[in-house]
Amino acid sequence: MELDAFSVRVALGVITVTLLMLFWASFHRTRSPYAGWWSLALLEFMVGNAAFLLNGTPHQAWANPAGNVLVVAGAFSVWAGAKSLRDRQAAPWQLAVAPAVTGIASLLENPGSNVWSGGFIYLAMMTVGIALAAYDLWFIKSSHSQVHKALSLAAGLLAAYYLGRWIVYAVEGPASHAFTTYFGPAPSALISMVLLVTVSFSMTALTSDQLIKGLRERATRDHLTGLLNRGAFLDLAATELDRLHSAGSGAAVVLADLDHFKAVNDEHGHGAGDVALRAFADACADSVRSTDLIGRYGGEEFVLFLPGATQDRAENIATEISRRMAAMPAPEGVVYPTISYGVTSSIPASADLNFMIEVADAALYSAKAQGRNRIVGAHRPEAATIADEARS
Ligand code: GH3
Ligand code: MG
Ligand code: MG
Repeated sequence: MELDAFSVRVALGVITVTLLMLFWASFHRTRSPYAGWWSLALLEFMVGNAAFLLNGTPHQAWANPAGNVLVVAGAFSVWAGAKSLRDRQAAPWQLAVAPAVTGIASLLENPGSNVWSGGFIYLAMMTVGIALAAYDLWFIKSSHSQVHKALSLAAGLLAAYYLGRWIVYAVEGPASHAFTTYFGPAPSALISMVLLVTVSFSMTALTSDQLIKGLRERATRDHLTGLLNRGAFLDLAATELDRLHSAGSGAAVVLADLDHFKAVNDEHGHGAGDVALRAFADACADSVRSTDLIGRYGGEEFVLFLPGATQDRAENIATEISRRMAAMPAPEGVVYPTISYGVTSSIPASADLNFMIEVADAALYSAKAQGRNRIVGAHRPEAATIADEARS
């Protein structure tokens, strides 16, 4: 017994409408780009498949090419959604080429009488679009779920199915027994149904991953400089210091404060002050390793945590930051402030983070008192004395 294509397509249509309504509501609520692309893809699949229902009627001449164009556009929308989960964007032309080529191929092959008009190009483009989606889904960076890999495999299987359809179509033609039995409209609509439901279900997990990532980013970053905020810095550095100590290693802490920064604000406005803060953040980021932590500690005060760094290395980094800061392009008429630093290191002793920051702060205070624009180190054994003096 053969499946009847019309009924399967109607069922597919009903499922698509239901999913579309659910995802549209989710997109409305979350504004998650992936939910948006997935809603668009569902809409394209739905309208495209509805157009195929007009095959065999006088409307086939326009409906058949339109259906091909929309379904291919849907596959490429899925790809755009997968890319958005990697924080990348597909260029508009990358999304437009495949549907456009499919439409032209379809119009050139008597779409009024030939239900497979443009079939060769249509199947090839579907294979490419779905394979691209599988590729991008696989490479999503996610620390708390592997659901994207399952999705990538599902998309990969669908791409393989379309590749099979394409090969059998090219070799044996759409009227052949092999094509109608395994790759015709009814079996592929059935497979599409299973996949739509699977993908939609996993989508929910991916969308919340994306939301959690965004919220976490906002909760841990300083808005102006993009550096870690004070709370996030202290959490991460304390955990890291514990880890280093149990591995018999240590770290260095650098506190930095811009000199006479208030004068920049007073003379050139708050906007220029903000530019200087960002320039300093960039100078820090350019001077350290990717495993080092940089935080905005207060208004114009910054803190660095350098795992495994010696006192000398940390002081060299401070010198490097000042050198880079002075070389940063500044707005017309503005001279960036110099910087004072307090530096301490714990190798291999087991001072805790608060103590290290206290010592670095005392050293910073001393740098200011000595006339600013300098680095004062408070390495053990002076560290304890300096901290005591600071307390008294
Ligand atoms: P010192 O050399 O002793 O550190 O002097 P200073 O002027 O740098 O220090 P002070 O603490 O007197 O002034 C810090 C200024 O930083 C005051 C405050 O308005 C400014 N500030 C704090 N946060 C921001 C910010 O986000 N943007 C801008 N533009 N200014 C800020
Ligand atoms: Mg200052
Ligand atoms: Mg200050």
